[in-house]
Amino acid sequence: MATGSNSLIWFRKGLRVHDNPALEHASKASSGSMYPVFVIDPRYMEPDPSAFSPGSSRAGVNRIRFLLESLKDLDSGLKKLGSRLLVLRGEPGEVLVRCLQEWKVKRLCFEYDTDPYYQALDFKVKEYASSVGVEVFSPVSHTLFNPTDIIQKNGGKAPLSYQSFLKIAGEPSCAESELLMSYSSLPPIGDVGSIGVSEVPTLEELGYREDEQDEWTPFRGGESEALKRLNNSISDKAWVANFEKPKGDPSAFLKPATTVLSPYLKFGCLSSRYFYQCLQRVYKDVKKHTSPPVSLLGQLLWREFFYTTAFGTRNFDKMKGNPICKQIPWKEDHDMLAAWRDGKTGYPWIDAIMVQLLKWGWMHHLARHSVACFLTRGDLFIHWEQGRDVFERLLIDSDWAINNGNWMWLSCSSFFYQYNRIYSPVSFGKKYDPDGKYIRHFLPVLKDMPKQYIYEPWTAPLSVQTKAKCIVGKDYPKPMVMHDAASKECKRKMGEAYALNKKMNGNIGDDDLKDLRRKLETDEESNIRNQRPKLNQVLKYLMRF
Ligand code: FAD
Repeated sequence: MATGSNSLIWFRKGLRVHDNPALEHASKASSGSMYPVFVIDPRYMEPDPSAFSPGSSRAGVNRIRFLLESLKDLDSGLKKLGSRLLVLRGEPGEVLVRCLQEWKVKRLCFEYDTDPYYQALDFKVKEYASSVGVEVFSPVSHTLFNPTDIIQKNGGKAPLSYQSFLKIAGEPSCAESELLMSYSSLPPIGDVGSIGVSEVPTLEELGYREDEQDEWTPFRGGESEALKRLNNSISDKAWVANFEKPKGDPSAFLKPATTVLSPYLKFGCLSSRYFYQCLQRVYKDVKKHTSPPVSLLGQLLWREFFYTTAFGTRNFDKMKGNPICKQIPWKEDHDMLAAWRDGKTGYPWIDAIMVQLLKWGWMHHLARHSVACFLTRGDLFIHWEQGRDVFERLLIDSDWAINNGNWMWLSCSSFFYQYNRIYSPVSFGKKYDPDGKYIRHFLPVLKDMPKQYIYEPWTAPLSVQTKAKCIVGKDYPKPMVMHDAASKECKRKMGEAYALNKKMNGNIGDDDLKDLRRKLETDEESNIRNQRPKLNQVLKYLMRF
C-alpha cells in the first residue's frame, strides 16, 4: 500500500506535460507516488443513440475522438517519463473521493476551471479533501489571466468591452515567467489497490463505431500535434506579423486561414501561456506587426475577454436572468432549427458550413458568423441558445465561455448591437470563393452546378439543374426563406425588441416578451399578406425557365 506523501494529479482539461503547474506541483511529492488520473465522465461520453448525430447527448463523436487521441498522447508523454495515465470511469466527484481514500493521497492537484459544471464539482471535491486533511492545489493555468483578479481590479464587475478589458488586464504575469516545458522523470505510480483503472479506451470500447461517420475531422488530438501546429504557425514569422482578423478567407479549408489551435487550447493540449510567449518572441524579431484586436495575440486576448466576462456574469449561458443580454422574443420552430442544423436551408454557403461543422467540428470564424447570424437575427429569428447548443455539441473546440459569448455577439444580444448589419448568405461567401470550391467539397450534390448558380441554385434554369444532376426541390432543398424579405423582417423585429429593452431599462418580464412576440407575429402575417402579390410575380417570372 502507498505511503502518506502521495499526490494525485487530476486531468480534466490541461491535457499536457508542458507548462502544467498542477502536474509540476504533484510531481514534487517528496518520497511518495504520483497518481495521474483522468475520469471518463458519462455526462459527456455516454453514447446517446437518440441524438441527431453520432455521439453523446453533449458531445459529437468527433470531439470524443479528439479527446481520446489527446489522452493517448498524454499517456505516452507520461510513460516516457516513467509514469502513465490511469483512466477511471464514473461520476468524477465520487471516483475522486474513492481514489483519495484508497491511495492515501495527501496532495490533490488539478487546474482551476471556471466552467459552471467544474465550479460545482470542484467545490464538492475541495470540501471533502479539506475535511480529511488533503492539501489541494488548483492553479489558474488554462488562461493567461485569473478572471477573478481582473474582476476585482474592475471594482467587482467583469469588463464588458474588449478595450476596457485590455486596459484593466495589462500584461499577464506569464509574459516574463519561465515556464517548465519538460521533466527528466516523474514519480512512479503507486499500487492502485482495488480501484479499477484502465488504459485509454478506444472509441469502440466506449460504445461508438468507426463507421458512424463517413468523413472525420482532419485534426488529430494531443499535445504533440498541438506543439507541431503551433511551431508550423509561428515559424512563418511574416504570417504571424501580418495576421489580421477578420481579413482571412473563411472558405479556405485545405489550408485554413487561421491557426486551428482552438481545439488544442480548449482541451489544454496547448498552454495559452506558452502560445503567448511564442508570439511575443516573433513580435520581437520582426520590425512591424499587427496589434489587438486584429492580431494573433489579439485573438488570444479575445479568449481571455470572454473567459472573464463569462465568469463574472450571472446566467451567462441564458437569455433569461442574464443582466448583459437583451431580451428578444425569438421564435420557436423545431423544423427550421433542424433544417439549419442539418445543412438543409437551401442556401449552399450556409449548408456547406453546417456540413463542415457536422463532419469536421471546426469552421473558420467568419463561417461561424455567417451561420449564427442566419439562424438568429439575419434570417430565421431563432433563439441563439438553440444554435449555441448545436455548436456546443458538435465543435471540437466547444468552449463554454467563448461559445456563449460569441452567440450573444452574433445575435446582437450583447457586446455588438448593429443589428442592421446582416451577412448575406449569398454574396458574403462568393466574395472569397467565387467558384464555390468550398461548397462543392462539403455539398457534393452541387459539385457540377455552374459557378454562376452555385450560391443560388434555385435560380438556375431547369435545363442547367438537369445537366448538373441536381434538381432544386428534389436533390437539394429550395431556400427555406427568401433572404431579402426575411432579413428585413428580422431587422423590424430587432428594432421593436431593442425599443422595448430601452423602454423597460432591461427589466422585461415573461409577459412583456409574450406580448411582443404576439405583436410581431401578427405584424409578420399581415406583411406576408401584403407581399404575396409581389411574390407571385417573382414566382411567375421564375416559372418561365
Ligand atoms: P485563430 O484565429 O488562429 O486564433 C487563435 C486563438 O484565439 C483561437 O484558437 C481561440 O482560442 C482564440 N480566439 C480566436 N477568435 C476568438 C473569438 N472570437 N473569441 C474568443 N477566442 C477567440 N471558439 C472556441 O474556441 N470555442 C467555441 O466554442 C467557439 N464558438 C464560437 C461560436 C460562434 C457563433 C462564433 C462566431 C465564434 C466562436 N468561437 C469559438 C470563436 C472563433 O471562431 C474560434 O476560436 C476560431 O475560429 C478558432 O480557430 P483558430 O484556432 O484557427 O483561431
